Amino acid sequence: MRQNFDVLIVGGGVTGAAVGYGLAKKGVSVGVVDATPPVDRASRSNMGLVWCQSKALGNRDYVEWCFNSSKLFGDLAKDLKETSGIDIEYTESGGIIPCLGEEEFTKRSDYLDALRKEAGEEGYPGTMMTREELEAKLPNVTFGPNVTGGTWCAEDGLVEPLKLMFALRHGITNLGGTLIPDTNVIDVVKTDSGYLVTTDKGEIECTRLVLAGGLGNRQLAGKFGVNVPVVPNKGQVFLTERVPDILPSPLLGITRTRGGTIMIGFEHEYVGTDTSLHSEKFCHVAKWATDIWPALADLRIIRTWSCLRVWPKDGFPIYDKIPGHENGFILNAHSAVTLAAIHVAELPDYIMGNDICKTAASFTLSRFDEK
Ligand SMILES: Cc1cc2nc3c(=O)[nH]c(=O)nc-3n(C[C@H](O)[C@H](O)[C@H](O)COP(=O)(O)OP(=O)(O)OC[C@H]3O[C@@H](n4cnc5c(N)ncnc54)[C@H](O)[C@@H]3O)c2cc1C
Repeated sequence: MRQNFDVLIVGGGVTGAAVGYGLAKKGVSVGVVDATPPVDRASRSNMGLVWCQSKALGNRDYVEWCFNSSKLFGDLAKDLKETSGIDIEYTESGGIIPCLGEEEFTKRSDYLDALRKEAGEEGYPGTMMTREELEAKLPNVTFGPNVTGGTWCAEDGLVEPLKLMFALRHGITNLGGTLIPDTNVIDVVKTDSGYLVTTDKGEIECTRLVLAGGLGNRQLAGKFGVNVPVVPNKGQVFLTERVPDILPSPLLGITRTRGGTIMIGFEHEYVGTDTSLHSEKFCHVAKWATDIWPALADLRIIRTWSCLRVWPKDGFPIYDKIPGHENGFILNAHSAVTLAAIHVAELPDYIMGNDICKTAASFTLSRFDEK
């Protein structure tokens, strides 16, 4: 028997799950179909940072979109605890970008000044910290001699990313939605009343279709002749043995998980879908990390992995209708952990036929059109 939904979301990573959760909360009949990801497991491999500061100079809408999401995270965490029973371990930890050397400090400070100028009267929450202020903020960390200070932003935070994704997914089913896991969408066609979706396990009908398949959106949107400009961007991460709670606020690139391990990694590589691990990259990152915090060199590394980010070519989200379709949508975002709370809050109304809110109105496919 064919299943039938008002809205079918293809992709149950953190993006599809967030939108599905928001729709289920509104009582919409929603299904989320999700293949077991092959290598591009971004929602299962990330650092869990809710990170807003020091990014996107020149795109004020995106800056606001991230900070607005961060503001909603505390409430989302409470709500998910109630609906799914899962504590996503969100902490309003604040976040720090450490600086090595005077030149890096000045560069970072100039960038923050530019962000502040761009924000104008609305103000910008990030500030610079001297080395002394940094030491006072993290008294249990002995910084390397070349650390000159860093940035501070109280609105950054940390979440347990797997718990976030599974809380959203459990929440969907507990609220009456349907999760269809381990199912690969092979074909999608437009019909008179909506869409017919063919999977490796059968057919599904829906009135509204949301493509939230991460890098898989390239194939999915391709079925409608649409080119989605997202590319794989590889990250390599390594994990140390557990340490006591000595890092209450994450450093960008060095994060202590709630379980006590330290996750290290920050590099971005454009190498197609190659996810092989390269020791020279790890050495480079490890050198940087131990320059920041020399005691890390004494910790055993217990695991390492690489993963592909879902990277819209200009780094900003894509929320748009499939060109020519009133009820078909394409959603892609990097930093989809950070954006999960605003995705829950804002995207369901858009999917149900309302205009997207003003802050997100520019994140359409047309910005990639050749001028
Ligand atoms: C190393 C690393 C660190 C990161 N750190 C952070 C961070 O600290 N903070 C942050 O905000 N972001 C971070 N990110 C980015 C974040 O992980 C991604 O933005 C996010 O996971 C993207 O989620 P998604 O649901 O859009 O895509 P995905 O996670 O790729 O999920 C897409 C889903 O769609 C499914 N799918 C695809 N095609 C089909 C099909 N045909 N049929 C059925 N299902 C299909 C896939 O199997 C997959 O489950 C990081 C990423 C990496 C790699």
